[in-house]
Amino acid sequence: MPDLAETLSDITARMLAEPERGHVADYIPELAKVSPQHFGITVITADGQEQSAGDAHVPFSIQSVSKVFALVEALQSHGEAVWARVGREPSGSAFNSIVQLEAEGGRPRNPFINAGAIAVTDLIAAGHEPREGIGAILRLVRRLTGDPSITVDGAVAYSEAATGFRNAGLANFMKSFGIIAGPVGNTLDVYFHQCAIAMTTRQLARAGRFLMNAGVCPDSGNAIVTPERSRRIAALMLTCGHYDASGDFAFKVGLPAKSGVGGGILAIAPGQASIAVWSPGLSPQGNSLLGTQALEDLSRAMGWNVFQP
Ligand code: GLU
Repeated sequence: MPDLAETLSDITARMLAEPERGHVADYIPELAKVSPQHFGITVITADGQEQSAGDAHVPFSIQSVSKVFALVEALQSHGEAVWARVGREPSGSAFNSIVQLEAEGGRPRNPFINAGAIAVTDLIAAGHEPREGIGAILRLVRRLTGDPSITVDGAVAYSEAATGFRNAGLANFMKSFGIIAGPVGNTLDVYFHQCAIAMTTRQLARAGRFLMNAGVCPDSGNAIVTPERSRRIAALMLTCGHYDASGDFAFKVGLPAKSGVGGGILAIAPGQASIAVWSPGLSPQGNSLLGTQALEDLSRAMGWNVFQP
């Protein structure tokens, strides 16, 4: 197997020199301020080795990567009842699309598109004050990383709330079908704050370790989810983690992964590694352009593609 540190430094040098970097998300004004020049990557292997390159210590907005943590939290608190609210099929539609909801009784296709994530967050938020809902997600992320300093970027949360008309539309539409139980405003408040959690690639790779490890957090040896749930979450990441580019991502990279419009991607090589990459420039579908390229190169170099015997 090639040397991991050398592989990461080669990939990083190539990505930093890449002229075509994609477009930084600008529909959330605060995200538009981030430079597309950043690139950072961290890999933590199953035997505990940690290697980083580039801007691995710079916090970024995890955005939709938070949908994985919200799903874990909702499965912990509501069990299989989660699947009454949200499906498990790829949408083939844009991350913020509303079109499938009307024909499908307001039930979003999967937990990793905006509508699905808002429905999942509603399960966490219902019956609580918004700060308790976001507190539950933050506690989970801090426990997974062992890092109590992780927090929400208030400016991003505010910026997103001030411009989140689409998400408000999705939430109100789902409410009309009874898919959202709590007050729409509270559910959105939790959703906007979970998307605005700021993490570095080092922290994000740590948070993903339980998924490479059959649901067990390596620090404590405690099960975060059962091995079956861990497999199922990874299956959803592979099939639904990149919106309407999920098939293309599986084709190129072959790893379960979840992207966010902040330019972060969390990818899992089951039994092998937890990987976080960040480059803010996005493809037209809203996935990190160079992050995807880097993961394709890494999974090929290390032989981590899940379809590779
Ligand atoms: N906070 C973003 C939104 O709801 C998340 C989208 C994403 O990261 O893909 O629009």
